[in-house]
Amino acid sequence: MAYVITEGCTKDGACVDACPVDCIHPKKDDPAFEQAEMLHINPEECIDCAACVPVCPVSIIYALDEVPEPMKQYVERNAAYFMAK
Ligand code: SF4
Repeated sequence: MAYVITEGCTKDGACVDACPVDCIHPKKDDPAFEQAEMLHINPEECIDCAACVPVCPVSIIYALDEVPEPMKQYVERNAAYFMAK
């Protein structure tokens, strides 16, 4: 499966710190951080632990099968970020 960051990401970074497999990018020390509109979860590396969900200050991280309909575009947007790398 994978978790998905959706609309309203504030790039707070609490999720990055909580993730045990380091699959949320870009990180604050990444040159791409400043330009990034949001953070993304790599669906190939996410282990579905849900540790990022309760720490998100704006509660916009969802399990893939629970992403609200208006936010579905973010499933592709999270994955595409890593395909472009
Ligand atoms: Fe990382 Fe777990 Fe969140 Fe997946 S569900 S992004 S592995 S903290």
